[in-house]
Amino acid sequence: MRILLIEDEAKVARFIQKGLVAEGYEVETASDGKTGEKKAKSAEYDFIILDILLPKKNGFEVLQSLRKGGNKTPILVLTARSGTEDIVQGLDLGADDYLTKPFAFNELLARVRSLMRRETRSKTVLKVSDLQLNTVTHKATRNGATIDLTSREYAMLEFLMRNGGRLITRQQLAKEVWGFDFDPGTNIVDVYVNHLRKKIDQKSEKKLLHTVRGRGYYISDKEVFKNM
Ligand code: CA
Repeated sequence: MRILLIEDEAKVARFIQKGLVAEGYEVETASDGKTGEKKAKSAEYDFIILDILLPKKNGFEVLQSLRKGGNKTPILVLTARSGTEDIVQGLDLGADDYLTKPFAFNELLARVRSLMRRETRSKTVLKVSDLQLNTVTHKATRNGATIDLTSREYAMLEFLMRNGGRLITRQQLAKEVWGFDFDPGTNIVDVYVNHLRKKIDQKSEKKLLHTVRGRGYYISDKEVFKNM
């Protein structure tokens, strides 16, 4: 899951970036409005965190320009002032939520998660590269070819794809797919992930299901965590 963070205060940006990366998100930053707008328009992000008081172009202008250009990425606005006018203006211009500085990191994380859930819940077809999963018919295809999945494999794939690009721990998968609320302590999750990997990656050059040893798994067309 890729997040663009547009924030000019280096300290705040580092704090947010560090926290989000630790949660398994991929974060890119921009330190002024113009650069942020350019990045948002040139790449696909799953989420944008946008400060309002920014050099070169303020957050309201960036927001307006993105929405006018048809960009529908969920945007969380950070406002230094708690003035309701700012908040109203931000929401009017198409922000999905706002947070007033200073805030606790957990509060930011909760907002990000809740907006992401709202976003992915509304999607019927999940896509990562040429892998597609229809959440209504439960049909999976890779490069157009159907992949037969057992119900557990389906549950696992849907969970990984809904969290596309985000690192999922073995415990999270065990809880989601088997309902275990504890570390199963066996290699059952690994066994299933390996089966699933064979089914989705074996016939393609590009590998999508990645393992980060000792940490967990994620689905992405890029190796997001190779240096960790
Ligand atoms: Ca600022």
